[in-house]
Amino acid sequence: MTAKLIDGNALAAQVRAEVSGRTAALKAKGVQPHLAIILVGDDPASQVYTKHKAADSEQTGLKATLERFPASMPEADLLARIRALNEDPSVHGILVQLPIPRHMDTHKVIEAIAPAKDVDGFHVASAGALMVGQPGFWPCTPFGCLKMLDSIGYELKGKHAVVIGRSNIVGKPMAMMLLGRDATVTICHSRTKDLGAITRQADVIVAAVGKRNVLTADMVKPGAVVIDVGMNRNDEGKLCGDVDFAGVKEVAGWITPVPGGVGPMTRAMLLVNTITAAERAAG
Ligand code: NAP
Repeated sequence: MTAKLIDGNALAAQVRAEVSGRTAALKAKGVQPHLAIILVGDDPASQVYTKHKAADSEQTGLKATLERFPASMPEADLLARIRALNEDPSVHGILVQLPIPRHMDTHKVIEAIAPAKDVDGFHVASAGALMVGQPGFWPCTPFGCLKMLDSIGYELKGKHAVVIGRSNIVGKPMAMMLLGRDATVTICHSRTKDLGAITRQADVIVAAVGKRNVLTADMVKPGAVVIDVGMNRNDEGKLCGDVDFAGVKEVAGWITPVPGGVGPMTRAMLLVNTITAAERAAG
């Protein structure tokens, strides 16, 4: 059996088109949706990510302002800048690119963002809202994974979903979203014993670990849906996921590729959160 591919690039293009439509509708009412992106320091990967986020925003009609600060910026100055953006009614979304320099407290910085503008969905208020099923902002990566499952018309109700990884930005919120769709959810992590025994029971597997070949063909039930969040490099330096794609695609029913899977969806869902923030602000 060869799995069907869930094409993240194609789905992200569809999502961007929807965002463009919503942006145009808001602009027609005189509101310019606006995302403020803060980059502290000169981490090369962060520079690329923020550039992409700004370009994606502009492409869909959202205004993006990229504010760059030196790595030596005092934490108090960053907090003051975030507070000023919180107060600015022309700004609808605020994103602080992580990681931030080590002298800063990431938790404190994220908590400084007004929950109504927390388009990354990392604030404890956003996490709490997801937990209790209230409106808030969902972290972009698991939100994108859910959108991918929806795109294939997958009914999660009553299915066994296994999430590998329990980070606050991917694994835990992913588990909550799947639970919210009435899946029976198991969360695995580095201390899980016999991972394969658990994943073999799964109808849906989301791998969010950051290690190559965490999931191999012998660990997958025939026909299962496999979502690969991981971003790793193989021996040739090429981007690859957590899943042994060549092997698993022979067993799974659906699979996401890396690259071209979850990555583009993560970028697209930031735009969704930003336009949603602007719509909510506009009432
Ligand atoms: P993270 O914070 O490092 O969390 C990794 C999780 O994997 C932890 O919960 C860890 O368990 C678990 N783990 C480690 N080794 C394991 C093993 N052998 N078996 C089972 N679980 C294991 O990473 P993250 O931020 O969630 O990101 C995960 C991966 O997704 C990374 O490759 C990252 O680059 C990628 N990512 C991709 C996107 C995208 O847009 N495509 C977005 C975000 C992240 P413990 O909690 O016990 O340590």
